[in-house]
Amino acid sequence: MRFAFISDIHANLEALEAVLEDIGSRNIDEIICLGDIVGYGANPNECCELVKTKCPVTLLGNHDAAAVDQLSTQHFNIHAKIAIEWTSQNLKHESESFLETLPFKATKPSLTLVHATPYEPNMWYYITSLEEAAFNYQFFDTQLCLVGHTHIPIIIVLDKEKELYVHQDSVIHLDDVKDARLLINVGSVGQPRDRNPKSCYGIFDSDAGEFSYHRVEYNIEKTQAKMKKIKMPEFLISRLADGR
Ligand code: ZN
Repeated sequence: MRFAFISDIHANLEALEAVLEDIGSRNIDEIICLGDIVGYGANPNECCELVKTKCPVTLLGNHDAAAVDQLSTQHFNIHAKIAIEWTSQNLKHESESFLETLPFKATKPSLTLVHATPYEPNMWYYITSLEEAAFNYQFFDTQLCLVGHTHIPIIIVLDKEKELYVHQDSVIHLDDVKDARLLINVGSVGQPRDRNPKSCYGIFDSDAGEFSYHRVEYNIEKTQAKMKKIKMPEFLISRLADGR
């Protein structure tokens, strides 16, 4: 099976369309969405519709939960709050009912899937250090765990000697890290924050035992113009071009 993983789309339709087109050319059996379909961008309904059609497994993200009143925005920064307010007011009924049905977690053979962390995925914790990653390995039992949430692509390896390290390449072959377990952040489609403005997504080929990142260019100016029109905070608009 060849899986594609998309996450943190954040209502950026141009990015989502570009990524889906790229995925379409890569012989993928199933697309899985790890959440945060809405929040920040100008096309939440279009993104919900596309994800609903394309991704048989889709998880709930914290921005999705906030947009349908399942999560308070008290811990969101001011920009995210403004974006969620606009999103809630502009979500169609179909989008709301779609987001309301999404689960926190899913599993596939050898894969655990969550938006935030395997430890209590409904608490929206972040994995931003090796210590936090090490802690989280206790809370999944599959070989791979795929997450989103930080918008930073990273592959963290726990090898058979129980050594924990960051894999420094955009491709990893399971044969090369025998008996290791991997915690992989698939990066963000709609708001990358690793100083590379191109959309990021991942592919896992379970037969070849290979995970790889893919970066896709999209029309950032068009996305920014739409955000300007709906008066999103300038910071949210400019960060897209910087990938931060
Ligand atoms: Zn996000």
